[in-house]
Amino acid sequence: MVNPQQHSPGTPPDRAALPDVAQVWTWLHAVPDPEIPVISLTDLGIIREVTYEDDTLVVTVTPTYSGCPATSIINLDIETALRGHGVKNIELRRQLSPAWTTDWLTQDGREKLEKYGIAPPQPAGGPEKCPQCGSQHVEKMSQFGSTPCKAQWRCTACLEPFDYFKCI
Ligand SMILES: [Zn+2]
Repeated sequence: MVNPQQHSPGTPPDRAALPDVAQVWTWLHAVPDPEIPVISLTDLGIIREVTYEDDTLVVTVTPTYSGCPATSIINLDIETALRGHGVKNIELRRQLSPAWTTDWLTQDGREKLEKYGIAPPQPAGGPEKCPQCGSQHVEKMSQFGSTPCKAQWRCTACLEPFDYFKCI
């Protein structure tokens, strides 16, 4: 689900040929995160604003962290998706402040992560429970998992290793 609060109240384009902002949000909701394809960019909460400036669609993106190697892929994916829907004039803006936090991850996104076997981020800085069996007996194995955004943890109940989504 798209969070209605993210919808820009803004500027419905006066030219009927341009898709409205709510429609664009729906399209963006279908663009998967390149690192964790089970969640979309809107689940991740990195798309801050969609608005029109004249007939140019401006999409403002806050990367999960400023050196994230996925950032340029994300921009390309957004552009490809929007062009696929016939949007011609697109401008992608990078907004570094305020910085992305895991609070921006939607509830929907958290549930999808957990179903996929990745423990969603917690304010305490470690996973709440094992995404496989639900045990709270978990230990950190490595600060780095399969991507820089994840750490490798292990459940001491079922002994399964799992990824913890650790972006700040
Ligand atoms: Zn377990």
